[in-house]
Amino acid sequence: MDVQAIRAQFPILSTEMNGRPLVYLDSAASTQKPAAVIEAHGRFYGHDYANIHRGIYELSQRATTMHDEARRKVQRFIGAGSWREIVFTRNATEAINLVARSFLAPRLEEGDEILVTEMEHHANIVPWQMIAAETGAKVVAAPVDDDGVLDMKTFASLVGRRTRMISVAWVSNVLGTVNPVDEIIAIGRRNGIPVMLDAAQAVQHRHVDVASLGADFIAFSAHKMYAPSGLGVLWGRCEHLEAMPPWQGGGDMIERVSFDGTTWNEIPFKFEAGTPDIAGTVAFGAALDWMEDIGIEAIERHESELLGHAMRAMRQVPGLRLLGTARDKCSVLAFTLEGAHQQDIGTMLDLDGIAIRTGHHCAMPLHDRFGLTGSARASLGVYNNEEDIDALVAGLRRIAGMFQ
Ligand code: PMP
Repeated sequence: MDVQAIRAQFPILSTEMNGRPLVYLDSAASTQKPAAVIEAHGRFYGHDYANIHRGIYELSQRATTMHDEARRKVQRFIGAGSWREIVFTRNATEAINLVARSFLAPRLEEGDEILVTEMEHHANIVPWQMIAAETGAKVVAAPVDDDGVLDMKTFASLVGRRTRMISVAWVSNVLGTVNPVDEIIAIGRRNGIPVMLDAAQAVQHRHVDVASLGADFIAFSAHKMYAPSGLGVLWGRCEHLEAMPPWQGGGDMIERVSFDGTTWNEIPFKFEAGTPDIAGTVAFGAALDWMEDIGIEAIERHESELLGHAMRAMRQVPGLRLLGTARDKCSVLAFTLEGAHQQDIGTMLDLDGIAIRTGHHCAMPLHDRFGLTGSARASLGVYNNEEDIDALVAGLRRIAGMFQ
C-alpha cells in the first residue's frame, strides 16, 4: 500500500496547524475525507440533486437511483443478504437508540437484564438505561481486566434467565480491544438472546461479513469511514426489522395515511421518516468504493503494523502508561503520562500541529474502572504513517521531560 499516495488524496493533510504540518491522530473520533468523497458530495449537489422517492421528473429519479445505489454499496461492503436490511440513520448512536426503542423496549419487563461491557461507549449504555428505567429492567456490565480484555468467563456467567439483550462494542474506542464477537454471538444464540454489535470502531478497520457473523443487529457511522458526518447505518435481520414497529413517524415511512388509521411502508423505509442526507449517502457510497479500491485487508495490515510501531515507541516514553494492551487490538492508543494532565498533553501537542483527543472519550465507566478521570488518545487511520507516530512520540518525550 502506497501511504504517500493515499495521503496526497486528503487535502487537509497538506494544511498546517499552529504553523506546523498537521499530524492528524484522531480518526477514532472521525476520519478525514479523501478528494474522491469531497468531489462526489459536491458533484451531487452541482449536477444531480433533488429530493428522492417523490419526483416523477428525471432529476429526482436520478437522485433516487444514486441514493439506492449507495444503499447497495453498504449492503455489499458488509456482506448483507439484502439491501432491505440496511437502514440509514443519523449515526451509530441513532441506530442503537432505534433498536432499544423499537425492538427491545416492547419486550422488556421488570427484572429483565441487558448485558453490555465495562468498555462501552456511552452510545451503547445510555439508550439501554433509558428503556430500562421505564420498565424496571437493568443494565448489567461485564468486567474488563487490567489489560483491557473482556473477562469472558464472567461475561458468560452474567447471561441468565432474565437476559433479554446482549449489546457489545466490536472494538473499544478507548482500549482498541477487539472483542471475541464470534464467541459472544455463540453465547447469545445458545441462550436465545439477541446480540447487537456496536461496530462504530470496527467496520473501517476489519473485514465484516454480516451474513456469516450471526449477529442480530450491527450499528456504525459513516463519518468514521472517510465519509460525511450525519449518516449512520443500522443493519438488522429482516425478520426483526419486519416485526419491529416504526419509531419515528412522518413522510416516507408510511404506506397509506388516513385519519382512520395509517399503515407502514416496507423495510427499510419504515424506519426512515423524513428527507434523509441524500448527498451524504451518495458520498458514503464513494467512500466505500474508495476503501474497496485500497482493500480492507491492506488497510488492516497497514494499521496493525503502525499500531505495533506506535506501541513499541510509546512504551519507551518515561512515565507513559498504555491503556489497553490486549493481544487483539486495533488502531487506538489511549494513555496517561505521569505528572501531566491529559488536557495539558493535548494542548501542548496541538502547538506542534498534532491532533489527539483528551478526556473520557464517552466512556466514563471504563475510566472509572481504571481509576482515571480521563486519558489522552491517539488513533489511526489509513493515511497515518511512521512519521506521524514519531512526531507524537517526540512531543510526548518533551512533555514527559517538562512534567517529571
Ligand atoms: N460507539 C463507539 C464504539 C464509538 O467510538 C462511537 C463514536 N465515538 C459511537 C458509538 C458513537 O458514534 P456516533 O457519535 O457517530 O453516533
